[in-house]
Amino acid sequence: MSCLFCRIIEGSIPSKAVYQDDQCYALADINPQAPVHVLIVPREHISSIAHAGSENSALVGHLHWVAAEIARSKGLTRGYRTVINTGEDGGQTVDHIHVHLLGGRPMTWPPG
Ligand code: AMP
Ligand code: ZN
Repeated sequence: MSCLFCRIIEGSIPSKAVYQDDQCYALADINPQAPVHVLIVPREHISSIAHAGSENSALVGHLHWVAAEIARSKGLTRGYRTVINTGEDGGQTVDHIHVHLLGGRPMTWPPG
């Protein structure tokens, strides 16, 4: 299995779960861009949101609900940002869809 996030989820690369359920696995980003930087990754391999079909729409929604749950658990009462990078222009570096949860500092807009 060549996909980094698939290997993390199946346990061949050790990691510590921030949250997990039957649909997804969340872990701290190895190169955090904010005091809280968590990746919410579906257990199913889907390359990007551009590859998600209508059968995946509930899963994509679930990933965002999980992000909000983790934000609550981490006390991000001032707010936070959720991001999905897609493709080359979107800055995606791991081709397995994931939601970034960023918080603990003010975010800027527009993103770079
Ligand atoms: P993206 O660039 O949107 O595809 O996001 C991929 C993210 O995965 C980046 O923020 C990386 O820092 C992060 N990352 C890469 N390898 C690991 C790893 N082994 N454990 C946790 N996060 C990782
Ligand atoms: Zn994968």
